[in-house]
Amino acid sequence: MKKRVAILGSTGSIGTQALEVIQAQPETFEVEVLTAHSNADLLISQAIAFQPNAVVITRDDLYEAVRDALAAHPIKVYAGMNAVNSVVQMETVDIVLTAMVGYAGLQSTIKAIEAGKTIALANKETLVVAGQLITELAREKGVNIYPVDSEHSAIFQCLTGEFHNPIEKIILTASGGPFRGRGREFLQTVTKAQALKHPNWDMGAKVTIDSASLMNKGLEVIEAKWLFGLKNEQIEVVVHPQSIVHSLVQFEDGSLKAQLGLPDMKLPIQYALGYPQRLKSNFPRFSFLDYPQLTFEKPDLENFQNLGLAFAAMEKAGNAPCVLNAANEVAVEAFLKEQIGFLEMSDLISDCLAKVAYIATPSLQDYVETDQETRQLALSMV
Ligand code: NDP
Ligand code: MG
Repeated sequence: MKKRVAILGSTGSIGTQALEVIQAQPETFEVEVLTAHSNADLLISQAIAFQPNAVVITRDDLYEAVRDALAAHPIKVYAGMNAVNSVVQMETVDIVLTAMVGYAGLQSTIKAIEAGKTIALANKETLVVAGQLITELAREKGVNIYPVDSEHSAIFQCLTGEFHNPIEKIILTASGGPFRGRGREFLQTVTKAQALKHPNWDMGAKVTIDSASLMNKGLEVIEAKWLFGLKNEQIEVVVHPQSIVHSLVQFEDGSLKAQLGLPDMKLPIQYALGYPQRLKSNFPRFSFLDYPQLTFEKPDLENFQNLGLAFAAMEKAGNAPCVLNAANEVAVEAFLKEQIGFLEMSDLISDCLAKVAYIATPSLQDYVETDQETRQLALSMV
């Protein structure tokens, strides 16, 4: 039986790489659903190539273009976010790859879990915003959430065969981004073009800016807490500029396990979709001879304040990580529109964390309201 995959955000960096993985494993996977937001042309060509059961374009104004282009194919075409929430629940879907960017992925992830679908989770923002709610729901529904994020995939791979052994701590590796080692004077002047050039990974714009500001690592710390049921003090971050050691787990006997490989998201995507099987691949192989030195250093929390803000939001818990995420999404967008500078992103997030009313045990509705309120506040500050 092939695994029937729904890819939410098929036109993005993770989405397109997932389709490459699926194309190379036709015996194992088939595409059941594709969704995109604005890139109608790419969605259409993907649909023609993969012949899914259904596609959704979330921007309503693009519906007719997609429907007309696919009229000759037996593919259902829908529009809007509500349609995404329905198609993830289709009986013919086995696994949902959440590869859309940002808070927009929250509702459909919840819908997929409610319908008992296995989740391959790339959309880390959903766990940052509502990690407790999502992991409790998944437990209640008996749903597995497999990580796609490379660091979390590394930890998951290290834990395979060790699920009954308590974790002492995990160490998430961070590349440090393009501005590693730079001071505030330099950071004040960095441009959008400089921030969009990641040294090791080729990713969507939002996660690339998050990597440059270290917010990506902050979001990943919170993501790891929920994925692996960790206490805050069990999570450490180390900067590893070569991005070869993807993360580590330390067990109670002191043993450290790491997973290594070239920086290529196709491997963690394939591991999440194929779990528990390791599928044969022709991805480029890592050689120590190409990397005579693997180095590790402390993260620079003084110049890159976002990582500290994320740890603080995780400590504060409640709706604080939701505030952190919403403020960051507005900040990144404003930086990409060249409305604010690189360092002003942290200022904006810090102000929002101080100003938005705290809720200790938020409901889903509270998260929705916190997200809206924070966005309004952050936009007014931009
Ligand atoms: P991209 O920006 O490349 O792609 C985002 C996808 O989401 C696109 O398909 C886009 O559609 C869709 N989308 C954008 N906005 C909306 C919206 N409002 N509603 C519904 N769909 C929307 O992002 P990435 O692929 O880089 O990242 C996706 C997720 O995976 C993020 O959460 C990121 O943090 C995470 N991740 C990414 C990694 C990477 O290497 N890229 C690594 C680890 C995690 P369209 O293009 O049609 O507008
Ligand atoms: Mg990552």
